[in-house]
Parts: sequence; structure tokens; C-alpha cells
Amino acid sequence: MSNKIYMIYGKDPFSMSMELLSAIQAEKLIERKDARIIIKPNFVIADRPERGATTHTEIVEAVIVYLKYHGFHDITVAEGSWVGARTADAFRLLGYHEMARKYDIKLLDTKKDSYRKIVSHGIRMEISESVLDSDFIINIPVLKGHCQTLMTHAMKNLKGFLSDRSKRDFHSQGLMEPIAALSDIIRPGLIISDSICGDLDFEEGGNPVESDRMMAATDQFLLDSFSASLMGYDVSDIGYLEVAKEWGIGDTDFSHADIIELNKPVVKPVRPCQMAIHLAKYTDADEACSACYASLIRALKRFEETGGLTSLKGRKIAIGQGFKGKHPELGVGICCQGAEKFVKGCPAKADDILRMLEEL
Ligand code: SF4
Repeated sequence: MSNKIYMIYGKDPFSMSMELLSAIQAEKLIERKDARIIIKPNFVIADRPERGATTHTEIVEAVIVYLKYHGFHDITVAEGSWVGARTADAFRLLGYHEMARKYDIKLLDTKKDSYRKIVSHGIRMEISESVLDSDFIINIPVLKGHCQTLMTHAMKNLKGFLSDRSKRDFHSQGLMEPIAALSDIIRPGLIISDSICGDLDFEEGGNPVESDRMMAATDQFLLDSFSASLMGYDVSDIGYLEVAKEWGIGDTDFSHADIIELNKPVVKPVRPCQMAIHLAKYTDADEACSACYASLIRALKRFEETGGLTSLKGRKIAIGQGFKGKHPELGVGICCQGAEKFVKGCPAKADDILRMLEEL
């Protein structure tokens, strides 16, 4: 398992995916050309990716094109939406039947598969047999908030491989230990993270925060731990990461991760989502990059949750390339290094911004 995490910024998920796949040399991770490959997007519900819940279709398409180019042919897109939603609706809405015909790949609704009963760390679960019998899994989660686990990403996305009964059981068992237990059984060989516009708080979307970022890694524990920091959390805030650490099943110390940025963040006019509009009034953005701005919004959201927001007393936090050479009071990112107090990074990370806010 490599400690490398590749990051790329941009507006074109297809070409960003291609660059990530080339950088990580995805074809070398799969041992045989006849390997049964499972691609796992996130279709928690049937909704458009721009609403912050579901995986961008272009990413899945890029992975298929890349695999086909390198001679892999046994490819299945497998997913099971949350309890109460029909996976078939997502496949239809997002054009997967056309894609399956075009590239000669299979679609699997895991709700309709047969299951094998597994016990992991004392937790019973029913996992899709086709997934368990596959040779290589490519997980393509969306990095977004979650009302119970705070963050949902690679490890939690694996829930789509469970029967609906096990999905329910996971909730009744508090989610954290079950998610860690599942992650010990299912260890995808590659994770391509869709962090283009994940929701601020809810896995079902509706309040997307545009980050225009994607990542690739082979270690789901390391990637989730690093991603927590991008969302403004410590590893200790994310229950299933804490359990994974306690059980010794995965590396959650991303301080030794090798973070490789393939390019620089995108500058764009910032458009805070509906839920973040009241947070945006604490920002002063001038040519801000989306990844940096998303970190600031997420940090402000965390700060609000701890009751700290009112302590800002109307002060605004400067962000963006328009602040180069200027001297605002508070700033985020290397562009604002002239500020009296600023957070390092390009882009800055939400957990570092939160730390500055807490110190004020
Ligand atoms: S520090 Fe400046 S250049 Fe870097 S991501 Fe932030 S706004 Fe963009």
C-alpha cells in the first residue's frame, strides 16, 4: 500500500481523472488483464452530481476508457442506493445504460445480488457476492458531509455493497464500528475521490461546496484521514477512523503521507451554496480559488457549530489572489501572507483555518 495521495484541481472531471489514473499508473495496480473489476460510484440517491451527492459520471467514464485502453475488459459498475431509494433510478438518470452499451460493461444493482454472510470484528453483515468474488475494486466516492458520521468518503462509500438489511443494521449499531469492520473486509485497490462539489453537511446533497478537486490513492484509511483535514476535522472527530486506528486495521496518520499536487487550484468567481450564504458574509474574496474558498466555508461551518462564529464580530477573512501584497487583518492561503494573521497553504486546509479561528 502506497502512502502517496495525488491531487488535481480543475473543472473537467474527465481529463482530471485521466491525469490521476496516469499519475498513479492504475494499470500496474491490477495483476491480470482478465481481472474482474468493480467500479463503485456513490449513488446514495438518484440525483445530479452538481447537487453534491453523487459521483460525476465523467469520472466513471474516464476510468472505463482508461481500463479499456489498457486491455481490461471485465468491468462492472456496482452500487446499491440507500434504503428506500432505487439504484435503477440513478443508473437511468445518470446515463449508465447508454454507457454500458457504448463500452460493453456491466451494471450491477447490489440490492438485487446474492449476499454472503460475513462476521468482521463481531459485526454481522451481508455483502454482495459479486463484489466479494471480484479481483479489483475501484472506489469512486464523493467527499461530503454527513449528518451522523460528519464525513462520508471512501470507507463509508463501501456501504453500497451491503444488503438493505445490513445497511439498516449498521445504523442500529451506531455506524462507526460497522463501517470500520466493513473497511477491513473490503479494501479497494484504487480510490478516485470526487471532491468536485461535495455537500457541506448531508450525504443526499442539496448544498454543494465547489472545491474543483479530485484525488487518487491506494490506501483508503490514509486518504480518509487526510480528507477529514480538508473538511476541517481531526481524525479523532470521525468515529470510524478512530475505530480503525484503535483496531490497528489501517494507517490514519497522514502526517507521513506523500501529497503530490499535479497542478494548482483554479481561480473562479465564488458562489456559496444556499446554506453557506450566511457564512460567506464572513469572507472577503477576491480572485479566490475554489479549493481554498471551500476550505474556508467548511472551517466557518465547523466554527459555527462550536458557537464561535459570533466572536468574529463582523470581521471578514480575506482570501484570494487579489490580496497579494495587501495587508488585511485576517487572511487565508499564501496569497494573504501580508495579513496580520494568516493561514499557510495553497490551498489552505480547513482544519488549519479552524485552528486560526479558534485562536482569535
Ligand atoms: S492561496 Fe491563493 S493561489 Fe493558493 S489556492 Fe488559495 S487563493 Fe488560490
